This record gives sequence, structure tokens and C-alpha cells, in this order.
Amino acid sequence: MNLHELSARQIAEQVGARKVSAEEVTNAFLARIAAWDPRVKAFLSVLKDTAVAQARAVDEQVRRGEKAGPLAGVPVAVKDNMCVRGTRTTCSSKILENFTANYDATVIAKLRAAGAVFIGKTNLDEFAMGSSTENSAFFTTRNPWNTDYIPGGSSGGSAAAVAARLAPLALGSDTGGSIRQPATCCGVVGMKPTYGLVSRFGLIAFASSLDQIGPFAWNIADAAALLGVIAGHDPHDSTSVNRSVPDYLPALTAGVKGLTAGLPEEYFRGGLDPEVERAVEESIRVLEKAGMRFEKISLPHTDAAVSVYYILAPSEASANLARFDGVRYGTRAPEATTLLEQYELSRARGFGPEVKRRIMLGTYALSSGYYDAYYLKAQKVRTLIKRDFDDAFQKVDLILTPTAPTPAFRIGERTDDPLRMYLSDIFTISCNLAGLPGLSMPCGFSSKGLPLGLQILGKPFGEEQVFSAAAAYEQATDWNRIPPEPSRG
Ligand code: GLN
Repeated sequence: MNLHELSARQIAEQVGARKVSAEEVTNAFLARIAAWDPRVKAFLSVLKDTAVAQARAVDEQVRRGEKAGPLAGVPVAVKDNMCVRGTRTTCSSKILENFTANYDATVIAKLRAAGAVFIGKTNLDEFAMGSSTENSAFFTTRNPWNTDYIPGGSSGGSAAAVAARLAPLALGSDTGGSIRQPATCCGVVGMKPTYGLVSRFGLIAFASSLDQIGPFAWNIADAAALLGVIAGHDPHDSTSVNRSVPDYLPALTAGVKGLTAGLPEEYFRGGLDPEVERAVEESIRVLEKAGMRFEKISLPHTDAAVSVYYILAPSEASANLARFDGVRYGTRAPEATTLLEQYELSRARGFGPEVKRRIMLGTYALSSGYYDAYYLKAQKVRTLIKRDFDDAFQKVDLILTPTAPTPAFRIGERTDDPLRMYLSDIFTISCNLAGLPGLSMPCGFSSKGLPLGLQILGKPFGEEQVFSAAAAYEQATDWNRIPPEPSRG
């Protein structure tokens, strides 16, 4: 078997048993990146030298007979909005083009301790605002299944890297769907954990009440293993929850007998692509056969979710992005003669059009006179959306939906129509507003050969049940595939 076809857990096992060296594994993935990435364009930077050095250190540790970590020698691709000490961390923005992180995000420190190897930083929509990576200030990542199509976003680089097997694992961040939607587009597993399960320390903030870091993987067991490493309380993040992290692996074989899943009627209405609908209905039958029970439910405030999100997320973003002023970080306009001019020129030049749109929307929604009508109102409706889920979870253990209303779309197809772009996340946003765990996994292919995705939502801190359902579905199906060599683009 080729090294790039091994699962993350197999790699860790074999490195720990000295059947293969971490250095060989790293070199195999670096070779794949060299061969594929010119077409896929998943990476903003490849950390060749430090990755090899990290791999050698893992090999040395194993040779000395020390216990290998749970991800010993496993290459991990990191979305470029997370700080990895000593690496350029751009958020795909000109304003941070030359910013080098001087500390590790907590998730990165945890991964280092687990023996993981950081193979590269991946492309995203600028500051994670978008659904296609077309908002990257540098370039658009391509869908490995067909390079004329978008890989999804904002974590499109991480999803494409895992799909094309340029890395067995990747980290993404999800504010309104940025892990799950690209996971769907690229045919991989992606999970947004419960808000507060994973530390956000060292994740460059977009909308702090919604942002959550999570795993991309080839299969459910790898996603669970990665989540197990990055989860847990962190005193550096006041919103990280102080509770112990379970071992997720036993959940993978627990089955779905006795579990009931809700099917929200609002998610199966007009606007849903018929191929997506058919694939999800087929998935329901598969899970029914495995012993899961289904029940129709209603989440009555679903229609308000996109509107609420596009008030709250930009409002938080407008505050979070105020720090990029040309003084402390990144790009500065050298010709400015006053402080105000320096702010204005640096920000005008440093931010792209979508980021500016969000800052303006957010500033407006928070401004005196409009705060009550927009921000406060949106907060109230957010509570109603959360209550819809609380009510539903009185009756069901999980909720099943499509992840995205359509398969991946063509590059350029939605760039002139922000509202249409925003609607790509219509099924993923509520989960962030309610703080729930949500997982997307492959559930078929469109007639054009593009992957389709199934979303499984759980109760707060119900990751184990989500994994049980996902693993049962995975076991009964065969959708985890490596895309063919990209021929176009
Ligand atoms: N696509 C959504 C947006 O543009 C969600 C992005 C995200 O989850 N980071 O805001």
C-alpha cells in the first residue's frame, strides 16, 4: 500500500512500531504535494524543512523507546488562520501577508505534543469569510474532483488537501459552515465540535461567539482521533469548557440501535438540489437498516438563520478586525502622514472587498440608533433558534440533514452575487448559532461526479452519538474515495 493511502491512525501505529519512519511518511506526502498542488492549490505555504525536522524528532523519540503520541508522525495541514510558531500566518489577507506567528495556538501545541507533523498552511477565504476560497487574496483553491469547481470554503484548502491525500488530516475553523461545507464539496469528513470544546486561543478571530476549530479527515475514526487530541479546557480561552474529554473511539463501534434522529421539515424544502435530496434519503434508509429510528421534526425559526448570522457574524467581525490597523500587525501604508491616514490607507489596501463589506455591515448593525433594530433583534432570534433545537432534542438524539443545498459549483459562478454565495451555508449556520456539534460526511456523487454530503447534528457535547451514527453509516457504505489525478485547471 502507498503511504498516502494509509489512515492517520495506521500511520501513527506503524511509526510507533517502527515499521515505517515518520520521515518517510512526511517525504511521501511532500512528494504528493509537489506533484498535485500546482493543480489543486490547497497550500499557501508548505513547511518542508520544519516538517522533516519534526518527523526526525518523532523518529528519534521512538528509537529511544519513548512512548509515541497518538498522532506520531502524522502529517497535518493547518488552515492559515491558526498560529503555528515561526510560520507565516496570513488569513489569506494582504493585511497579514508578512505576519509570522510568534506562538502556537493551543490546538497546535496539543498536536505537537501528540507527535503530529505540520506539513503546510492551507488556503481560505480571507479571514474565513466565504464559501468557495474565491475570497482568498492570493488564489482560488480547486476542487480535486474537478478543478473547474470550487472546493467550498472557507476552509477549502484544508478540505482539498485531505481529499487529494496531500495530508491525512487537516484543521479547519467553522463559523457558519466553513468546515462542513468544504468537506461536502471535496468528499471528506469534516466536523465542527460543540462551541467551547476546542480552544480558540491562537485562532485569528472572525466571529468569536461562533468560531470553532475542528478536524478534517479521510474517515470517521481519524476525525475522532484528531478531535480527541485537540479538545479540552484551556485557561487561555475563557469560552473553553472545563469538562473532561471522553475517548471517542469506543463510540465508533457502539452502533445506532436505540438512537432516534430527527428530520427537520424545513431542511427538505424547495431549493434543495434533487440529487442531494435523493442521496440524503438513501442515507436515511441505510441508517434505518442499521437500526436507527427516524422522526419528522420542525425547527420553525430556520428561515431566519441566514439573516441572523449576517447581522451577528459581521458585527463581531467588525470589532475583531479593528486590531488590524497597520500599527501592530502586517501591512502598513508607508506614505501616511497622520495616524488616521495610516489606519485608512493600511486598511483600504490590506482588506479585500468581502471583508470590507462585512466590516461595514457589522459597524452599521452596531451603530447607535440601529443597534436595537438589528444586533439586539438578531440576538433574540438567535435564542429562538437555539430553543428550537432544545425542543427537538427532547424527542430525538440526533438531527440529520443535507450539508449543503447543492453540490460544489463552478469557479466564478456565484462571485457576483453575495446573497447566493451566502445561501451555500443555509443548512450549516443554525448549528453555529446554537453552539451544537455538526459533522459532514460523504454520502454519494452527483451525475457530474462531484461529492455530496450528509450532515449529522448532535446535542451539546453529544459528539459521541454523532460519531456513532457517522461510523455506522460509513461502515455500511463506500463513499470514501481518492479523486482521480486532476486533469484540468
Ligand atoms: N460562509 C460563511 C461566511 O461566509 C461561513 C464562513 C465560516 O464558517 N468561517 O461567513
